[in-house]
Amino acid sequence: RTFKSLGVCDQLLEACENMGWKTPSKIQAEAIPHALEGRDVIGLAQTGSGKTGAFALPIIQALLDNPQPFFACILSPTRFVDYITSCTVFLKELAIQISQQFEALGSAIGLKCSVLVGGIDMMAQAVSLAKRPHIVVGTPGRLLDHLSNTKGFSLRMLKYLVLDEADRLLNMDFEKAIDDILKAIPRDRRTYLFSATMTKKVGKLQRACLKNPVKIEA
Ligand code: AMP
Repeated sequence: RTFKSLGVCDQLLEACENMGWKTPSKIQAEAIPHALEGRDVIGLAQTGSGKTGAFALPIIQALLDNPQPFFACILSPTRFVDYITSCTVFLKELAIQISQQFEALGSAIGLKCSVLVGGIDMMAQAVSLAKRPHIVVGTPGRLLDHLSNTKGFSLRMLKYLVLDEADRLLNMDFEKAIDDILKAIPRDRRTYLFSATMTKKVGKLQRACLKNPVKIEA
């Protein structure tokens, strides 16, 4: 399989090459053709499977046809990834990693992301939202905080919603926040849900958010 055979456009083929992605990972090979056809997708996949690319490539490909601010929103749980260099441990939010993959894949069009996570000044994030990014990546709690309190910020034009690591989102008691976010975004949108495990709660979230989804496994 090649990215080209999955239907990835020339501009993004070049972006994949620049990332050093030579062949699609399993989850990418299975998810991308359905996503490009406009289907909602449920992906059972772990971190490290390339799942970020599996949702980022179809979203950016759609964005190329219809460039607009607040095009997609990625909800991710709070999770820090450790980087150990000499004696120092660096902690990095999952949301930051996701935004960096989007910005790298979309660098040719100057794709902009805002990262909305807790523990960081609301005002600095509001300044970033005022620049009208294409993509918003964040935790449900902080995103909802901005929807309620940041003037001029709305997701009424949103085209894509991603629920990343859905099992972990639900373990962290983000159900109410996700519910409120769903009320603030269009029903007419595409939705992708990724989860390492399929639990009862994930099934319930899936029924509330996705329409006739394709289910795939990494
Ligand atoms: P993820 O599972 O999305 O967090 O991705 C894990 C790592 O794999 C990231 O560093 C990606 O840049 C990398 N990656 C994603 N897709 C591919 C691919 N098709 N080939 C090689 N590396 C990839």
